[in-house]
Amino acid sequence: MAVDATLPYDDSNIFAKILRGEIPCAKVYEDDHALAFNDINPQAPTHILVIPRGPYVSWDDFSARADDAEIAGFIRAVGAVAREAGLVEPGYRLLANVGPHSHQEVPHLHVHILAGRPLGPMLAK
Ligand code: 5GP
Repeated sequence: MAVDATLPYDDSNIFAKILRGEIPCAKVYEDDHALAFNDINPQAPTHILVIPRGPYVSWDDFSARADDAEIAGFIRAVGAVAREAGLVEPGYRLLANVGPHSHQEVPHLHVHILAGRPLGPMLAK
């Protein structure tokens, strides 16, 4: 079910439960602003999700409401995760789905880090 990114934050979403430790995840990184873990249904050899700790539905919500420290911390965390995973030299793709046309499924902002093979065209034709 695709997310309506204009709805208010719902703290029963699956990533909120992961942040609260109610559901396990394969954690690869955490700091004050972000948590990163392996996607449960990987679309590439490396498929990591990076999420902010704060309650933001989407990139739209985050970029409008988060304070500068949260935004800087989250962006730096995405870069750190990719560097620590050794992805900079071979290359990687970042992807953040927002709303129905993107097919966003989980209503807590997440940036996908995809890597580990040539990833092909950016979008399906
Ligand atoms: P979206 O389509 O919202 O951009 O991506 C949601 C992603 O979350 C999907 O790639 C999906 O496999 C992943 N996902 C959904 N539920 C879980 C979960 O419980 N644990 C983990 N690690 N990933 C999940």
